[in-house]
Amino acid sequence: MPTMRAMLLDAPRTPLHPAELLVPEPGAGQVLLKVHACGVCHTDLHILDGELTEPNLPLVLGHQIVGTVTGSGPEAQRFHLGERVGVPWLGATDGTCRYCRRGQENLCEAPTFTGYHVDGGFAEYALADERFCFPLPENYTDLDVAPLLCAGLIGYRTYRMAGENVETLGIYGFGAAAHIITQVAKFEGKKIYAFTRPGDTAAQEFALRLGADWAGDSTQMPPEKLDAALIFAPVGRLVVSALRATNKAGVVVCGGIHMSDIPSFPYSLLWKERIIRSVANLTRRDGEEFLALAPQVPIKTDVKVFPLEQAGKALEQLRHGEFTGAAVLEINRK
Ligand SMILES: [Zn+2]
Ligand SMILES: [Zn+2]
Repeated sequence: MPTMRAMLLDAPRTPLHPAELLVPEPGAGQVLLKVHACGVCHTDLHILDGELTEPNLPLVLGHQIVGTVTGSGPEAQRFHLGERVGVPWLGATDGTCRYCRRGQENLCEAPTFTGYHVDGGFAEYALADERFCFPLPENYTDLDVAPLLCAGLIGYRTYRMAGENVETLGIYGFGAAAHIITQVAKFEGKKIYAFTRPGDTAAQEFALRLGADWAGDSTQMPPEKLDAALIFAPVGRLVVSALRATNKAGVVVCGGIHMSDIPSFPYSLLWKERIIRSVANLTRRDGEEFLALAPQVPIKTDVKVFPLEQAGKALEQLRHGEFTGAAVLEINRK
């Protein structure tokens, strides 16, 4: 039986460790992927820390998988052998619940999330439901395209939720998602105000390099009011800071899966039709739209590359904001 290297999570709040696992066999409708790259995401940290409470342990994390098809199970015929595909967080849905039926499969009642309910891409091979894989734009390398699959895709859904009437856009938390969405928003002619952890001048300079019109600390007010604010840092008090910085009818969109508590605030901050909303997961349509848009912008990702065995180190550096851009594991180098 062939085996593969993987990084395994045995229990929350314990370090990932290297393991030798059997290469899985694709079941009905599944493809077997040889993984070339896998992005590292804040959601992986929330799973590691036990803030997401239903991981299928022991677990291989990773839901921004770039791989080539090396096998297909029964009834899987969408992709040919050797084709490069991407696997996102939404690994499968039931297709039948009230949300799936009305085009909100991101809210499915019985979803399967990659690297959470099923093993993900911190391994040399991974299985995926072929219906939820994306063909990837050709003009990206494996490493460069990986962050588009979650940071990009869920960032894009978050950005779209800000609505049409946005000239001034605030982005709170300038990590992987922000660095991608700044490029999309500039492409669409928005003015961008980037907010980072207080004193994080490296992230502020990075934001300005990517085209932000202003960058400052999250404790500061922007020089002009915002029509919308996107929050990518898991910090509840930023919701209040962002509300304070918005125009009438301003929209504050929370893009993360987990956030610390939002402090109470006076109703006057919400008054005048301001909106607070969250974004959950993604639909396949978000992915198709975003991956078609990416080469037009064109979005360039800034990646910090780690070998598979350093997945734990990548997660800790992400936690502490020790790099700009997106972390990606390089696996099965071609
Ligand atoms: Zn993610
Ligand atoms: Zn459903």
